[in-house]
Amino acid sequence: MMCLDLLKSNITYERRITILPIERQNRIKELLQKNKSMKITELSSKLSVSEMTIHRDLKPLVDEGFVIKTFGGVTLSNKGDYSTGNHCIYCHQNINDKLSFRLVLNNNNIEITCCSHCGLLRFLQIKKEVNQVICQDFLRLTTINAKTAFFVIDTTLDLGCCQPQVLPFEYKEHAQKFVKGFSGIVSTFDEAVKFVYDGMHSSNE
Ligand SMILES: [Zn+2]
Ligand SMILES: [Zn+2]
Repeated sequence: MMCLDLLKSNITYERRITILPIERQNRIKELLQKNKSMKITELSSKLSVSEMTIHRDLKPLVDEGFVIKTFGGVTLSNKGDYSTGNHCIYCHQNINDKLSFRLVLNNNNIEITCCSHCGLLRFLQIKKEVNQVICQDFLRLTTINAKTAFFVIDTTLDLGCCQPQVLPFEYKEHAQKFVKGFSGIVSTFDEAVKFVYDGMHSSNE
């Protein structure tokens, strides 16, 4: 009987909830920003998903140092608590979650920038202190390692953030497809760093 009930609730859940993991992660972030710490059971009932799903959603947030696992729950880390300033560390404008870029430092602090443009410039500034660079795939909104990502530079699509723009993609073929539609050049992390740096400094040469 238990199994049948479980099955039924899973079915209704499947039909009712169509939100993406990334949206749920953002929702978890919002909840944690507000409550600072929460139980897994609380999150699971608030978001109407299983505790297992919550654990899966939390994994990247834990990896990023955004939250710390506690007994039966999670707590917002100091780094995750940016209620004091939800602004780009480089250009100080508001952070757009979709474009944001994270630098995980050797001391486990996390710096967030509004977009890859600022992220790459910030990386150049503090390279030696940076342990990981994380951004989101432009199309799939998955968390990816910026170092191994492909960046579309010089595209015609205007995102309204910083210029020159750089858009991250996990897969080269996605970046190439994007370029077919919106033009631009597919580049590696190092090439993209050079591109934004040159773009910002060309007037001084
Ligand atoms: Zn910025
Ligand atoms: Zn920006």
